[in-house]
Amino acid sequence: MEALKLASREKQSPYTVVEIDSPQGPVRIGEGYCTVIAGPCAVENREEYLLIAQVLKEMGVHILRGGAFKPRSSPYSFMGLGVEGLKILAEARELTGLPVVTEVMDTRDIELISSYADILQVGSRNMQNFSLLQAVGRINKPVILKRGLSATIEEWLLAAEYILSAGNQKLILCERGIRTFESYTRNTLDIGAVVAVKELSHLPIIVDPSHATGRWKMVRPASKAAMVAGADGLMVEVHPYPERALSDGKQSLNPDNFARLWTEVKQLADIEGKHY
Ligand code: PEP
Ligand code: MN
Repeated sequence: MEALKLASREKQSPYTVVEIDSPQGPVRIGEGYCTVIAGPCAVENREEYLLIAQVLKEMGVHILRGGAFKPRSSPYSFMGLGVEGLKILAEARELTGLPVVTEVMDTRDIELISSYADILQVGSRNMQNFSLLQAVGRINKPVILKRGLSATIEEWLLAAEYILSAGNQKLILCERGIRTFESYTRNTLDIGAVVAVKELSHLPIIVDPSHATGRWKMVRPASKAAMVAGADGLMVEVHPYPERALSDGKQSLNPDNFARLWTEVKQLADIEGKHY
């Protein structure tokens, strides 16, 4: 992959460990760490978000997730609470001391979202929104770049190159499954991509087993497969009551099931001597 200048491991080594500022000190993502991001697909209301945030904090989760601006396939689906959601995220951050990540869909929202969140997420559907990539490349905030639904590994790394070349080096990649002929699962988790990215790039790579499978029962095994393949962490959807979630309930774990996942993932991290 000759076009890679800044994302390539050959040209830039050693591995990058991204530091995320938080009220409790830096959280790290990268080689040697097993970092877990968890929370509901979307921030739905204040009470439930603050509740799940505290439960996750007590379990030892490092970063909270929650969408405020949601990219939905249908314009009639729940699109998130917008600014109200950002305020709830900021409140959860104050309450728990954990950093928060949320998606940015539009360059016009970057400043607003940056004033509430610790990490900005570029979603799958925007992986090749080049003006958004350049704009998040110009900010001084960590960015999570999810793999596009139908993006090759090279296209994904070139998208990363856009952010890096605009100046932002605090970049984390997230494999979230790709679209294949298989329809039993929502997407197909590309475990090989995790191995390939660790080989090709110095950037941290995490895996989102929730969107990758679309089925909560598959989330725990997929998480473990990702860690064994070399992922630096996970992003998992956890909802206090998945059966009544406003988005992605079928792939969301309840707190008990997440606790089991996290216990088993920590055992794998111990074997490899990764910090968590
Ligand atoms: C998400 O993580 O909230 C999300 C919408 O995921 P993706 O962009 O991978 O579909
Ligand atoms: Mn979701």
